[in-house]
Amino acid sequence: MNAVRGATTVREDAPDEIREAVAELLGEMVKRNRLANSDIICITFSSTQDIRSFYPAKAAREAGFGGCPLFSALEPPIDGALPLCIRVLMLTKAEGVPVPVYLRDAANLRRDITQKLVIALDGPAGSGKSTAAKNLAKDLNILYLDTGAMYRACALECLNRGTDISDESAVRAVMEDIDLRIEYSGGRQVTMLNGRDVSEDIRRPEISGMASKVSAFGCVRRKMVEMQRRIAATMSCVMDGRDIGTNVLPNTEHKFYVTASVEVRAKRRYEEDRAKGYDVSYENIVKEIRERDKRDSEREIAPLRCAEDAVVVDTSDMTPEEAVAFIKNKIQEKV
Ligand code: C5P
Repeated sequence: MNAVRGATTVREDAPDEIREAVAELLGEMVKRNRLANSDIICITFSSTQDIRSFYPAKAAREAGFGGCPLFSALEPPIDGALPLCIRVLMLTKAEGVPVPVYLRDAANLRRDITQKLVIALDGPAGSGKSTAAKNLAKDLNILYLDTGAMYRACALECLNRGTDISDESAVRAVMEDIDLRIEYSGGRQVTMLNGRDVSEDIRRPEISGMASKVSAFGCVRRKMVEMQRRIAATMSCVMDGRDIGTNVLPNTEHKFYVTASVEVRAKRRYEEDRAKGYDVSYENIVKEIRERDKRDSEREIAPLRCAEDAVVVDTSDMTPEEAVAFIKNKIQEKV
């Protein structure tokens, strides 16, 4: 269950104005949170005392939201409050991070959330970008999209089908009917392949190298980039990968290139893999990271590189908390 907040304003206290504003607000809340009407448990409205001509709850019923309990209340008169304002709290059965919706003059109430934030974090393996991206998204209460997981899922699908990943036309055939979906559950990204949660499987060490190989093909990148852009077009998010600032979202003003020395990165990956029970050696990880860096940065299509307008974050001597604080400060300077 989650609770979605929303607010809007009317130009004057008139029934048709209230009907229109409420229908628009609820419609946007449903759309941006990808809800079905049957997901809604109840909707509560409050309105400022200058709204007296019509119940917002009645407007909601008329707009097709009568399938759940609806309730309207009048707010106390607060000095300096935004006039002609209708506020909403919608309880839903959905999981994950709710997307609040503030429309019309109510957008000024929450500039921090009404301004869409799209944050690009690029960098090599083990740089700490995923940890930073995850924590940043949690702090800002926005979506985190790990694009590496999508390339890993493509690699896993090739592995499962026994596809020769050095053969581009064979990989293209896989991409034509791959059933890959990114879902969110309890605030966590879930990678679904053929209807099965493969979030753990794609972390297997052998998948890392395979993902780096298949991600060099245009047929793979085109499909993944299209999915990534579609997600960023609809909601605020932190996206991490290799080409987000340079290729996927070149127009975002919040770009970071997260990096660290090869030794530090290898040590982090070694400790992570060991903790998961994988039998890996530090020397092999250094070798694998160097190979992956080389392949990712030398490939022809969308290679790993720092965008000209990205802020470089070297996490070699930073704790994860310091990295997030640094990035957040840089974002706040611009918002
Ligand atoms: O970040 P992660 O290690 O999970 O990514 C696995 C591989 O997917 C990378 O080595 C890289 O080759 C590829 N990738 C990419 N573009 C992205 C994200 C990942 O090419 N945006």
